[in-house]
Amino acid sequence: MLHAPTRRRFLLTTAATGLGVADLANVALGATELPLTPACHDHEAPTLAQTEGPFFKPRSPERADLIDPGMKGRPVELVGYVLTPACRPIAHALLDLWQADDEGAYDNTGFRLRGHQFTDAEGRYRFRTILPAVYPGRTRHFHLKVQPAGGRVLTTQLYFPDEPMNRRDGLFRKELLMRLAQAGDGIDARFDFVL
Ligand code: FE
Repeated sequence: MLHAPTRRRFLLTTAATGLGVADLANVALGATELPLTPACHDHEAPTLAQTEGPFFKPRSPERADLIDPGMKGRPVELVGYVLTPACRPIAHALLDLWQADDEGAYDNTGFRLRGHQFTDAEGRYRFRTILPAVYPGRTRHFHLKVQPAGGRVLTTQLYFPDEPMNRRDGLFRKELLMRLAQAGDGIDARFDFVL
């Protein structure tokens, strides 16, 4: 059954203690009810494109779970929708994610912390990964390519709220901030793409 994403509610239970990410300290204590796509109104602006950077590799494996056995780093569950500007879910859209590891390094020989997948019939995606470390010159970020079936590729990056480096990274855009909440030892991250 397809629900309009704007009407769906999502319960985030948070307890802002012992966090390694500054922004999480700003997440409200207790249970916070957030709209699933709070920023999506009719005629929504498409998600901003950003530079690909030097570390993209094509032909990543199809997988939603990028955490290999023994991999260090704080788990992140990144979820959201891929939507049209009218907030309609886009099914079977491709999402390709690549990122730095817990020490700020990209795997340029294999496909560690690289993977792609497709939105489900309701336009939802989900990645399980780790918190990328910052590396020289950049604030904390994920890289993604998002493509509707047969459509144009959006290349962009997602950012973490309240990172000290956000102010000093010329690529940072607040429109590309994820929303975060603590989830046990890990972090729930949410971002909806508009194509
Ligand atoms: Fe990067």
